[in-house]
Amino acid sequence: TKYVYSFTEGNKDMKDLLGGKGANLAEMVGMGMPVPPGFTITTEACRYYLENGLEPDELADQVTENLAVVEKEMGKKLGDPDDPLLLSVRSGAKFSMPGMMDTVLNIGLTDESVQGLAKQSGDERFAWDSYRRLIQMFGKTVLDIDGDLFAEAVTDLQQAHGYSGDLDMTTNDLRELTSIFKGIVRRTTGRNFPQNPRSQMNLAITAVFRSWNTERATIYRRREHIPDDLGTAVNIQTMVFGNLGETSATGVCFTRDPSTGHSGVYGDFLPNAQGEDVVAGIRNTHPLSDLENFDKPAYDQLVGIMRELEQHYKDLCDIEFTIQEGKLWMLQTRVGKRTPAAAFRVAVQLVEEGLIDKKESITRVTGAQLTSLLFPQFKREGIAAPICIGTPASPGAAVGKIVFDNASASKHAAEGESVILVRRETNPDDLEGMVAAQGVLTARGGKTSHAAVVARGMGRTAVVGAEDLVINEASGTVFIKSKHRTLHEGDLISIDGTTGEVFEGAVPVEDSPVMVYVSSGLEAGLAAATDDDARDLVNAVHKILTESDEVARMKVRANADTPEDAAKARAMGATGIGLVRTEHMFLGDRRELVEHVILAEDDEERAAALATLRPLQKSDFLGIFEAMDGLPVVVRLIDPPLHEFLPDLTKLSVEIAVADAKGEKVSERRRQLLAAAEERHEANPMLGLRGVRLSIEIPGFVETQVRAVAEAAAELRAKGLNPHPEVMIPLVGSEKELQIVADQAREVIADVEKENKLAAGELGISVGTMIELPRAAIVADKIAKDAQFFSFGTNDLTQTTLGFSRDDVEHEFIPLYITKGIFQESPFGTIDQEGVGELVRIGVERGHKGRPDIVTGVCGEHGGDPQSIHFFEACGVDYVSCSPFRVPIARLEVGRATV
Ligand code: ADP
Ligand code: MG
Ligand code: MG
Repeated sequence: TKYVYSFTEGNKDMKDLLGGKGANLAEMVGMGMPVPPGFTITTEACRYYLENGLEPDELADQVTENLAVVEKEMGKKLGDPDDPLLLSVRSGAKFSMPGMMDTVLNIGLTDESVQGLAKQSGDERFAWDSYRRLIQMFGKTVLDIDGDLFAEAVTDLQQAHGYSGDLDMTTNDLRELTSIFKGIVRRTTGRNFPQNPRSQMNLAITAVFRSWNTERATIYRRREHIPDDLGTAVNIQTMVFGNLGETSATGVCFTRDPSTGHSGVYGDFLPNAQGEDVVAGIRNTHPLSDLENFDKPAYDQLVGIMRELEQHYKDLCDIEFTIQEGKLWMLQTRVGKRTPAAAFRVAVQLVEEGLIDKKESITRVTGAQLTSLLFPQFKREGIAAPICIGTPASPGAAVGKIVFDNASASKHAAEGESVILVRRETNPDDLEGMVAAQGVLTARGGKTSHAAVVARGMGRTAVVGAEDLVINEASGTVFIKSKHRTLHEGDLISIDGTTGEVFEGAVPVEDSPVMVYVSSGLEAGLAAATDDDARDLVNAVHKILTESDEVARMKVRANADTPEDAAKARAMGATGIGLVRTEHMFLGDRRELVEHVILAEDDEERAAALATLRPLQKSDFLGIFEAMDGLPVVVRLIDPPLHEFLPDLTKLSVEIAVADAKGEKVSERRRQLLAAAEERHEANPMLGLRGVRLSIEIPGFVETQVRAVAEAAAELRAKGLNPHPEVMIPLVGSEKELQIVADQAREVIADVEKENKLAAGELGISVGTMIELPRAAIVADKIAKDAQFFSFGTNDLTQTTLGFSRDDVEHEFIPLYITKGIFQESPFGTIDQEGVGELVRIGVERGHKGRPDIVTGVCGEHGGDPQSIHFFEACGVDYVSCSPFRVPIARLEVGRATV
């Protein structure tokens, strides 16, 4: 097996084998750029090592061969005491895992060769600086010594001499530091720092392999959904020296500004420095533009290379470089990370510059990035620094008074006041408070903690794990450790769930210009933008969404229950409603009418009760159909368990028992209600009398609802409008069940058509069903015979397929399962492709067998989830339906799913 590739052999498409860093180094070599020579040990070698606990036999020889080539090219030899070749050993997995696996520089220096290096370079200080760095990095990375021990030794030495920084250290100091470091190695490991250069290199290679499985790396991979079995490559590269005096430097740069997307010269450099010095903040760095004065030829060459790389990669690149005595060396490049705003702007700029086409541009952004551009934002001008920073867990900008418990959260909320629930950590008992609060702030926990998961699920802003806070719920105080300040219950704070910042007082909040754009159009969005950057961003989002609409196959509808929501969804670009829930239309004032229906003693009484409901329902539908004129609107017939319309059984029995005991009079109606509640009581209501079962048990519901739908449609049609209602029957499991209710619905529609002197079918109301039971998906071909459309209710389908009660497990169970690695993410947020998703696939396929022109949609939460949307595209679903505010995100993702 070939385990080693010279940089001259690879290219950027070999990331699986060479890792990102190795593949891109090889690409730059292929482009003729100045890259210090070297070679890459493959990820396959790493996997072998991790499986077998030792390197593959062939590896040593292949490394020796490749090393010989490098030695020849450089005219130096590893371990040559007079003129040593020095190497860096650099990790590099397929996906960049920042800071996960450390690099070791200056491999090859020993007590002997440090003298040679000093002589060769004519710079003794440089030689000892390099040697002490080797021991420091090697000690930390390869020998697992606590890095603080070295850092403290540096600080002690500098303090003892009254130095202000690393540049003040003399050759003698650095020599002394080297022996202190060697002492640390000896003390902590019981061995001397290795004096054989080849074994330094071998030990470093093995350490890189092993670092794949460190706890930090594993946790990072889990969070980023990177598979555990990829392994890392190892790059062995000739050292170049940015620390070789005042004509040398090291730096990092971006081809465009990663926070705004502007093209230009962005980056930092440090003269006379090496490796991580720039990012480690040991000295103040210089902006890249100053490099022009520092070394004009190197600067010009670098700017040329930056443009060349961008043209070549057709994207924003980030770059690491070093200048050794006036000569520029490229040490790394990759497609760079960027903020969501920059992602949109760069994608559009690249189209304008002719580097990519429009279709490609929509793949350069994600729904998640768009989501973050839609959250409200703090007006940041002139605000004070944050009082602390925690983990951003659920985006948004929330302002409110500090409260510590459910009772005060609910009390304040009821009075119309905003509150932030502040807790050490949250648990399921805090749900009430989280519902009432604008945001949640905790001192403990990470992105998958209870508070984080629940807040994201509810769309509440959350900052978690703000460890600087000591929260004392009993005394009603928050102590900020680093500031020695105490906040009290009722004090105003502002939390930014996008950045994790916590501010004292009320920071003003506003809709983001992108939000204004998606809800009110381009002109309004541009008007809301306060500067050119924001205007550019609004234009960019507009261009991308327009292109996405253009290429999309799936349509996007919204779930909306009111005319207001329908109008909002339409403004955001929804092309119909995929789900109108009718149950809330029976609550509030109307609940009593439903009680009458349930308590009715005979058909006549029931019919009368239903008759009072119908005009109310009709007026609900009129508003929604009008708001969605010309577009389809799926109305779901009554779905929840009947008992939800009745008073709570326990409360009512206690109330009546108490009244009886006191000898008070209890109305006949209360007693009837109690009897009904008792009779209707179910152990598992979600598996009980609900959905289509309810319509079969009380046929009057179908008649009433369908009539209200059809009459509303007829009335609008008479006014010259163009309503397109679709009647949906929920929770169907068998074709017979559906047939009974669908026949009844069709009869009612036909009656209304006749009554309105319309031809049969003229109202164009289709009748379909929801697929939310596994059985329904399996027998979809039969069910399709009676359904003109299917809508996959993936919330219930997930619940019924996994056997998890959605209302109960989200809180404790799912976070636990995610921590244990049983789930990658909540199956209620992202579709479980193998299980639930497979049922959707089967349902679509068999549905088309039963009825070739059947229309299929998804109306669960998953309809607005990017990953799930891509899966539905692959299943051939016709549309997704999601909450109005997720419509723009879904529009982007249905487009992206096709390219
Ligand atoms: P990371 O993956 O953390 O970015 P790198 O392998 O890029 O780690 O190494 C970190 C830094 O070490 C680089 O940015 C560069 O400054 C320095 N470095 C790595 N290899 C060399 C080399 N051959 N010559 C000089 N400096 C190097
Ligand atoms: Mg790097
Ligand atoms: Mg359902």
